[in-house]
Amino acid sequence: MSNWEKQLKNCYTSPKKLPNSIKISVQEEKFFKKVNIQEHLSFQVTPYYFSLANPQDNNDPIRKQFMPTAKEFIFHEYELKDPLAENEYIVSPGLIHRYPDRVVLRLTTRCAVHCRYCYRRFAIDKASCELNEKDIEQALLYIDKHPEVEEILVSGGDPLILNDNKILSILRKIRQQRKDIVIRVGTRIPVVLPQRITKNLVHGLAKLKPLWIITQFNHPLEITPLSIKAISRLIDNGIPVLNQAVLLKGVNDNIEIMTLLLHILVKHRIKAYYLFQTDLVKGTSHFRTDIKKGLQIMRQLSSKISGLSMPVYALDLPGGGGKVPLTKDYIKQVKAGWYYIENYQGTIYKYPQESFR
Ligand SMILES: *Cc1c(COP(=O)(O)O)cnc(C)c1O
Ligand code: SF4
Repeated sequence: MSNWEKQLKNCYTSPKKLPNSIKISVQEEKFFKKVNIQEHLSFQVTPYYFSLANPQDNNDPIRKQFMPTAKEFIFHEYELKDPLAENEYIVSPGLIHRYPDRVVLRLTTRCAVHCRYCYRRFAIDKASCELNEKDIEQALLYIDKHPEVEEILVSGGDPLILNDNKILSILRKIRQQRKDIVIRVGTRIPVVLPQRITKNLVHGLAKLKPLWIITQFNHPLEITPLSIKAISRLIDNGIPVLNQAVLLKGVNDNIEIMTLLLHILVKHRIKAYYLFQTDLVKGTSHFRTDIKKGLQIMRQLSSKISGLSMPVYALDLPGGGGKVPLTKDYIKQVKAGWYYIENYQGTIYKYPQESFR
């Protein structure tokens, strides 16, 4: 068994399995006692990612990303189970087609770490784990029939949780079907299980150009010798790596942390792509930073860091409105507890102001 497979096999999935060094807080304990796993995201963290946290500190920014708390039981009326209405845009099993020129293919519902703020938290680790061969055939047929699709985002769950044979054979089939299509792999594996980025995997991926990797570093502490090694291996083999961070309260919603993160990313040749405002998924309000604070951070960043290091601050509008950059142009109004935000089609969507709820 390879190193990364051992990590996965030894994932912590219950509080009893956690190393004794950890002090479980009252809120965390309440979650484990009362959780109905059908209704919530289960607990899972790799020993590697766990080791990046300070087990004594409840406020540790890594710990907050993987330790569940009873705050996840708080549901607001404006929160949704499928906040981006992805299910409405499914054109064949696992295939989402919302924008004219690109599709998303969700290969699996498994991930290495269950991130507590995940907007797909109601789809992660649930039944019907992986697409089967017939599903893949159907997806291939679809992209063949739709030449206007220029780009395919391979996603999940985390697609790189599949073994080399599986993931590479699927990607090769996509490449065979459409020589020209841009393949974008969305994965958090370089952050939470960097051992997975093996030579064999990377050499396989390198043959499938044009292929981009989009990962998700949220905090400078996630940049370690192992994650740097994984990223360097990808880039040295001609695979560009971009980063989508999520703005998370108490984790990175702070100008010093964000500046440090963006500086380290560019130093390791990772291009910052998006900084996402959190989606309105049920049970994640404790992670929600107010848009006003996000805008403030962006303004401060623009005077501190280079254009090369700058992400686009963006929101995927609730209810399937699509992505919009969060700038004054798109925020039409702030009134009585709500931001009114316009999408690319001119439709207005509401997003809650933090101070009102
Ligand atoms: C986010 C997303 C994309 C990609 O959008 P980009 O702005 O190109 O990164 C494509 N399709 C769907 C359904 C998405 O949610
Ligand atoms: S790796 Fe991505 S899809 Fe999986 S739980 Fe984390 S944020 Fe969600």
